[in-house]
Amino acid sequence: MDAVPQSLHDPGFSGLEDMLRADGVNPIHAKALWRALHREAVTDLHACDFSPPLQEWVGHNVGEGKRFFLDVPEVVDETHSSDGLTKKFLLRLRDGQTIETVLMGYDGRQTACVSTQAGCAMGCVFCATGQMGFVRHLRPGEIVAQVNHVRRVLGQSAPDKRLRNLVMMGMGEPLHNYDAVMHALATISDVRGASVGPAKISVSTVGVIPSILRMAEEGRPYNLAVSLHGSTEEERSSLIPVSKRWSLESLIDACRQYGTITGRRIFFGWTLIAGKNDSEETAHRLAALLHGIDAHVNLIPLNPTSGFDGRTSANAAGVKFQRILRDAGFPCTFRQRRGIDVAAGCGQLKADKKARAAS
Ligand code: SAH
Ligand code: SF4
Repeated sequence: MDAVPQSLHDPGFSGLEDMLRADGVNPIHAKALWRALHREAVTDLHACDFSPPLQEWVGHNVGEGKRFFLDVPEVVDETHSSDGLTKKFLLRLRDGQTIETVLMGYDGRQTACVSTQAGCAMGCVFCATGQMGFVRHLRPGEIVAQVNHVRRVLGQSAPDKRLRNLVMMGMGEPLHNYDAVMHALATISDVRGASVGPAKISVSTVGVIPSILRMAEEGRPYNLAVSLHGSTEEERSSLIPVSKRWSLESLIDACRQYGTITGRRIFFGWTLIAGKNDSEETAHRLAALLHGIDAHVNLIPLNPTSGFDGRTSANAAGVKFQRILRDAGFPCTFRQRRGIDVAAGCGQLKADKKARAAS
């Protein structure tokens, strides 16, 4: 029986070298192949001007019905915010699953927000992806492919613009798909490829403790963002069911260890929900919880989703919350509600498209 076709976007550089070597091709050609796949983000290797041995290998091995394919997702929906600065893409993978990727171009900086899973197993009640449930993990190539997609879009709209920032804040829980995410990030930050600086990459987690500690122990050079949303076990587990498994107390402990091992600042995400987690008392409790941690708190206005009837906090409550944290010595900023008119909340474009199809 024929082997299952493999993605050429999955292997790392040495993986490509091994692959060519195994086929009797000089591994020196991996350089040109890597460049085409990861720097130029080409969609068709057959159109590349490779040297004859590589061209021949591509001709024999890449394409429909052959051993290898490229991860080039199909765009099934695309929305632009009214100010034109946020573009959101719904991308279809080879097995028909759809995922979201967002490109944000504020303050002269281009930031991509990518997905790491189809759906999510963590079930946060306010999150459109959590409301869908888990479908499957993404492969490294499927994560890399989202970055390549936005880089092609940028190339078309403004050749002088380069993708400099990356956040793993799309659909899915990155630290529930640890190996694929870390492998993809090594590829994306490779200076011979997309070359997004590790210090400009953020991995956001709902609090998968073993993976947070693994990131620290392995010396992963990326920023860590931890989505907290609750200052007591009850407050948090009413929003994030998985915090019954990884308690708030043990999560904060893990963050302290992460900080001690890495010496890095941790970014704590806090989605503001009126009457749920936006009181002055909660803000004081949060400040006490974070005491001694090099922490930055990001306040996120709640985006409405069909499966949750909470509302975002009133402006005054958010500002008061911010002031309490600042007075306690923590940098605290608001993440702007960028592109709410393009359904830029996690998982919302997919959920909206489903709703449109059903009506
Ligand atoms: N699973 C990871 C990363 C993806 S979610 C995590 O939870 O951190 C990225 C961020 O979007 C998280 O901080 C999450 O809490 C937030 N988020 C999800 N749904 C939201 C909504 N409806 N409104 C505002 N923020 C939301
Ligand atoms: Fe998953 Fe993050 Fe959404 Fe929670 S907020 S369901 S962890 S994607």
